Amino acid sequence: MATQFRLILLFLFGICCVESKYIKYNTTAGIVPGKINVHLVAHSHDDVGWLKTVDQYYVGSNNSIQGACVQNVLDSIVPALLADKNRKFIYVEQAFFQRWWTDQSEEVQDTMKQLIKSGQLELINGGMCMHDEAAPHYIDMIDQTTLGHRFIKEEFNLTPRIGWQIDPFGHSAVQAYLLSAEVGFDSLFFARIDYQDRAKRKDEKSLEVVWRASKSLGSSAQIFAGAFPENYEPPSNFYYEVNDDSPIIQDNMNLFDYNVPERVNEFVAAAVAQANITRTNHVMWTMGTDFKYQYAHTWFRAMDKFIHYVNQDGRVNALYSTPSIYTDAKHAANEAWPLKTDDYFPYADRVNAYWTGYFTSRPGLKGYVRTMSAYYLAARQLEFFKGKNKAGATTDSLADALALAQHHDAISGTSKQHVASDYAKRLSIGYKEAEEVVSASFACIAESCLKTGRPNPVVTKFQQCPLLNISYCPPSEVDLSTRKNLVVVVYNPLGWKREDVIRIPVYNEKVTVKDSEGKEVESQLLPIQDAYKTLRNYYSVAYLGKSKKEAPNYWLAFSASAPPLGYNTYIISSAKQSAVSSEIKSFYNSETAKNDKIEVGPGNVKLVYSGNEGNLIQYINSRSKVEQSVEQSYSYYYSDNGSADLQASGAYIFRPNGSHPIDPQQQVLLNVLRGPLVDEVHQRINSWIYQVTRLYKGKDHAEFEFTIGPIPMDDGIGKEVVTQIKATIQNKKKFYTDSSGRDFIERIRDYRKDWKLEVNQPIAGNYYPINLGIYMKDNDTELSVLVDRSVGGSSIKDGELELMLHRRLHEDDSRGVAEALNETVCVFDECTGLTVLGKYYLRIDPSGEGAKWRRSYGQEIYSPFLLAFTEQDGDNWASSHVASFSGMDPSYVLPDNVAMLTLQELDDGKVLLRLAHLYEIGEDKDLSVMSSVELKKVFPNKKINKVTETNLSANQERAEMEKKRLVWKVEGSSGEEAKVVRGGAVDPTALVVELAPMEIRTFVIDFN
Ligand SMILES: [Zn+2]
Repeated sequence: MATQFRLILLFLFGICCVESKYIKYNTTAGIVPGKINVHLVAHSHDDVGWLKTVDQYYVGSNNSIQGACVQNVLDSIVPALLADKNRKFIYVEQAFFQRWWTDQSEEVQDTMKQLIKSGQLELINGGMCMHDEAAPHYIDMIDQTTLGHRFIKEEFNLTPRIGWQIDPFGHSAVQAYLLSAEVGFDSLFFARIDYQDRAKRKDEKSLEVVWRASKSLGSSAQIFAGAFPENYEPPSNFYYEVNDDSPIIQDNMNLFDYNVPERVNEFVAAAVAQANITRTNHVMWTMGTDFKYQYAHTWFRAMDKFIHYVNQDGRVNALYSTPSIYTDAKHAANEAWPLKTDDYFPYADRVNAYWTGYFTSRPGLKGYVRTMSAYYLAARQLEFFKGKNKAGATTDSLADALALAQHHDAISGTSKQHVASDYAKRLSIGYKEAEEVVSASFACIAESCLKTGRPNPVVTKFQQCPLLNISYCPPSEVDLSTRKNLVVVVYNPLGWKREDVIRIPVYNEKVTVKDSEGKEVESQLLPIQDAYKTLRNYYSVAYLGKSKKEAPNYWLAFSASAPPLGYNTYIISSAKQSAVSSEIKSFYNSETAKNDKIEVGPGNVKLVYSGNEGNLIQYINSRSKVEQSVEQSYSYYYSDNGSADLQASGAYIFRPNGSHPIDPQQQVLLNVLRGPLVDEVHQRINSWIYQVTRLYKGKDHAEFEFTIGPIPMDDGIGKEVVTQIKATIQNKKKFYTDSSGRDFIERIRDYRKDWKLEVNQPIAGNYYPINLGIYMKDNDTELSVLVDRSVGGSSIKDGELELMLHRRLHEDDSRGVAEALNETVCVFDECTGLTVLGKYYLRIDPSGEGAKWRRSYGQEIYSPFLLAFTEQDGDNWASSHVASFSGMDPSYVLPDNVAMLTLQELDDGKVLLRLAHLYEIGEDKDLSVMSSVELKKVFPNKKINKVTETNLSANQERAEMEKKRLVWKVEGSSGEEAKVVRGGAVDPTALVVELAPMEIRTFVIDFN
């Protein structure tokens, strides 16, 4: 009634007679005790590539796809913040921020510095991108965060306080304890948790928790974590981009549609509703969404008015805030919070919509990122040994490319195709430059430049073979029948001594392999099968635009070893006799009457195949006395096309609609190649799946190499290809998958620890991301599978593990990418479905003994030998070159439970060193113990001047971070725990670093 009365008054007198007056909005509000405080957090969620590439988003091109221009966001934030010092904004993605920063004049930079210093603009999260949490490996997450954090530190002398992972599709334990607590964040916020979990948490006011995600590090690495009630957007009706249709707050009485009371009421109602599901009287409104604030003033104008009128009204208190201010308010409330352990996977946003497809989407890109990640780690070591040459090639552009690739629409496989190609292009450019660094470093070391320090024109030209996986390696494909020798440098980026079988393609069969002392090395020739020649010929043209003449006929395999952080050199030359050929035997379908068994494997591990069907039936390890029935097969899920309820399987979502076993129907069941080093079982599973199973003499596991594709689509149905491994293990619904490549988390089929799961997708809802591996066990036996890239996987039935290896789909799943995941490769104008070549590894142990292999071999998979090739006339390589090298003291190796994650020369000449304990508490009886590393032996030829321990992202001293750490109370008895163990301070004279289980320690080292 009152409103109506005023309208009439306005009509009678207002328009002509009320004097229009400037309104000074009061935006000074801080926190008011005793009231509901609505923290308005202005933000823009800027994807570092998704529908457009990162550069297109930055400059604002390709707007027919999406009207988004990040320059506009940052440009318009500056005057908007200057207009009122109470206004605040947060900025997240450093890839964009740094692009913008370098584009600005000194004046604008100074202004921005002031805004940052005053807290009006807060840089949070602070990595180059908002990384995905399912598909990235933790080492990549650390690297991309470090890159952003160190820039912020150098430029602004600041350390971001807040983890802001608002869009990734589920949240990993590693994100909580490692990339948040160990980075020094005070809190972590996100939006996407399972819809069933969310409903319960709203009921119980437990969206905000203390997340203690590491069993080993416990409360010492816990974090205050908040899931938003709905998403990372404002409450509905409070969107203020220029064209948004939320009602504006119209407070000019001279104009029609004055609506202040209605808008204030709506604001208060939304605030109260949120307060009803939130503990304490602080609620956060995320005022923004994807690529907003391109004209920042519209948002701030609206918020100015809301703060002014809502606070005049007085029922609730509205204020400009940031997640830091909000966190401090939560902390000051001195509440006890519910405890959360483990992680937030898998994520479903509604019934039948499990975001578990992206664990496997774009397996080629996922594999490429992993390969580049390992290469980057090794290349930085070699860059350090030689000394960083800032004027020449560096590893920096590979660092940038890898950082972008961790974005939650990059490695996740959820970008548009042209954007996925952009990520791959950047990686390839970065690789090219890093390759130069590696080659130059090998040349320098081989020509003794480290010792002489001479300003060398090194002469040795090393080449590398990034396409070795498709048997394309020009430097090894040379005619060795002349006097030419092929020199192979085998570099080991691990801190342990190591042996492995290397394989390179060769033309000649009359070859011999010698080590640098001239001693012959055991080798074996394996004919390259047609399936691989086809792959090589097609993909070398697809990648390089050319194919090199005829494909070589053989793989030359030989056993190589290398010292820790060092290399050995091998010489391949022509010989009078052929190298040891593999004995080849084919088993045909027609011989099926027999009940023969075919046993394969030159070492302890044997695989037994049935002579009838040619399938794997048994795994035997003669050393550990394990004998286990085991089967391995392929099948595919038909992808749901969404006809029933509009939810199709797509880039994000896995929605199977029935499955189809793939039974080999070939005439040739098996081709078995046997030799002294390795036995191979070749199986053409069907016309588009080829598999080689390898058993090495010196390795107690089986290696499966799969070539899958092009997945046929002519029947109009998408397909998601899985491999299954069955054994007689009574795992009773339990299995274990890693968190971002690190801690293993127990999973129970059709069960969630945090709520009573209503099962609607018994397959997709049991899928988890796998970066390192998956295992299951019973009282006797433990079966582990390790992977070479991130994939999705599960145990859908007892005794069974499965991995999804490839997927090709017809439909989009309506989550924004608006493209079917249908990857193709084109040669000239002909395109065909993408073929993926990858590996996984199987081992069976007595129960409780699998961790050693998972951890140490897992590290070898992540960091394979790095090979470089050169040619030499004559055979005096060793006498004129450094043929064997170790970056550490030759008598020293890192302990078995420790890995070096980072060895990198920084721009200021200091060195960044990261050491990681690889075992969890209780994981292994011998290795889950305190370990120590002697820095003097890691750096034998350098004088260590000062060692400073830092937080994980190396932007502050560890002690300083610990001093600032907020202490949170945990509800009930769940707060109690055993004392957490960590390594002690590093004595500046002894220089020994202790590492407790799962501890990662980061140091900046100053050499004099
Ligand atoms: Zn996003």
